[in-house]
Amino acid sequence: MSDLKITGVKTILTAPGGIDLAVVKIETNQPGLYGLGCATFTQRIYAVKTAVDEYMAPFLIGKDPLRIEDIWQSACVSGYWRSGPIMNNALSGVDMALWDIKGKVAGLPVYDLLGGKCRDGIPLYRHTDGADEFQVEDNIRAVMEEGYQYVRCQMGMYGGAGTDDLKLIATQLARAKNIQPKRSPRESTAGIYFDPEAYVKSLPRLFDHLRNKLGFGIEFIHDVHERVTPIASIQLAKTLEQFQLFYLEDPVAPENIDWLKMLRNQSSTPIAMGELFTSVNDWRPLISGHLIDYIRCHVSCIGGITPARKLAAFSEIHGVRTAWHGPGDISPVGVAANMHLDLSITNFGIQEYTPVNEALRDVFPGCPEIDRGYAYLSGRPGLGVDIDEAKAARYPCVGGIPSWTMARTSDGTASRP
Ligand code: MG
Repeated sequence: MSDLKITGVKTILTAPGGIDLAVVKIETNQPGLYGLGCATFTQRIYAVKTAVDEYMAPFLIGKDPLRIEDIWQSACVSGYWRSGPIMNNALSGVDMALWDIKGKVAGLPVYDLLGGKCRDGIPLYRHTDGADEFQVEDNIRAVMEEGYQYVRCQMGMYGGAGTDDLKLIATQLARAKNIQPKRSPRESTAGIYFDPEAYVKSLPRLFDHLRNKLGFGIEFIHDVHERVTPIASIQLAKTLEQFQLFYLEDPVAPENIDWLKMLRNQSSTPIAMGELFTSVNDWRPLISGHLIDYIRCHVSCIGGITPARKLAAFSEIHGVRTAWHGPGDISPVGVAANMHLDLSITNFGIQEYTPVNEALRDVFPGCPEIDRGYAYLSGRPGLGVDIDEAKAARYPCVGGIPSWTMARTSDGTASRP
């Protein structure tokens, strides 16, 4: 039993990059000793803050912050009903902050607490997009110039216009010459429109172009974002096999994972799955059934480092690798947590990386160093990323519903975003 006690828990909301972020700060009775954790569920940011401030804080005050596993397990069931992205993000903010504290107490970076470095740098992939295959090629060349060896290739994002201006729907896929998206009815509900069939037809053209122009010396990723029917995804995985993708991501919605067996029987295109999962158990049949090759996982959405390291270990013994989610709606503290896991697990696959702006670097001192397509951690004790609360307060959150989630297909039907 240590003499260390949790004396304060609060949620800091900030949006230095224009995206709402939530960071949990846990203070202790040792002066100057505190931990930070990412609790960012950007689309429901105020609900997470309430969960932390109203429920986690009173639960935690007075507890020993070094008892991470015990706190995780008891906090998880403290509301009886458990899991879900709001409660898991609240739990993640707490969990990561406790790992940060433990590292600071030990004088070790979190990756050393998790077993130590398995590699010298963390390979990253970046996003590229474009209205047609030529724009995508240009954007990939720019990213390659920066040193990246892995790249996610989208055309019209997930097959949509990326705007709520209906007149612009045709500017994306229509440029792919003879693949015309369907006309919408004469009056259309506001939303982000896309044509799943035109999108599926456009992808072989995209990757044929990219392999012809850029060769096979660069790794390509594509994210289906669960936007097409399961059978269309199977067709896509088969057609794209010749282009040797690093992986095809989220080919089916979480509700349709049974279709992965059929996909697997017909294609050797590597599959990554799980961005929307909120429990380690969601991956279990996919990993043990050898239905996927990479776990896509938003670490804060499953409850933080504690469950993520177990998921990674379970994946390791089944020959499955990691690809932690790394979009813009994750704080630099969460990015660092991903990377401490990346460094310390042997079955690391790849790390998604979204560049941070100057304001984010200013608010969060200690962001990982990025150089020529690799990330490097500082080796400072804990997670290694701090927050300047005064500066964070200069970037208030905006809340609201993000427009990109208002996806619709050509005739106006609401769709998975
Ligand atoms: Mg994704």
